[in-house]
Amino acid sequence: MIRILILIFCFSLFFANIFSQTKTKSGKMENQKINKSNEEWKKILSDTEYKILREKGTERAFSGKYWNFYDAGTYYCAACDNPLFKSDAKFKSSCGWPSYFEPINPKSVEYHEDLSYGMHRVEVTCGKCGSHLGHIFDDGPKPTGKRYCINSIAIKFRINGEKN
Ligand SMILES: [Zn+2]
Repeated sequence: MIRILILIFCFSLFFANIFSQTKTKSGKMENQKINKSNEEWKKILSDTEYKILREKGTERAFSGKYWNFYDAGTYYCAACDNPLFKSDAKFKSSCGWPSYFEPINPKSVEYHEDLSYGMHRVEVTCGKCGSHLGHIFDDGPKPTGKRYCINSIAIKFRINGEKN
């Protein structure tokens, strides 16, 4: 019986340790996810933003703000301000949407199989708030060969160091 208690005690120490490691020095949780209800999102997003980000809509090709925009800076999630892409990873693509060959870091975005509209695609969402950003394709340039095809409405550009 005592052995079992000791075992349980050791396990709880082990898990407590794991959880404490996920905290940064400032005490904030790393990669803390944002979970808001549809009603909360509706309050902070415009109708068009809500349609794209929360209902997986797609803006018309060649209609967005950033498909033909190449200033140096960073692109953030329009819903939660999570840094997603650097302008260094943006490339000229003829598809009509802003295109990147890689995210800022692997955890900036998440991937989901998307079988809608009779197609087999991979959806890209924000790694922090889960909002829909666009899709990823295998026809991008070197070094990754990937094309992150992203809705302009789902992202916000800022020059590095500029506050939102
Ligand atoms: Zn986000």
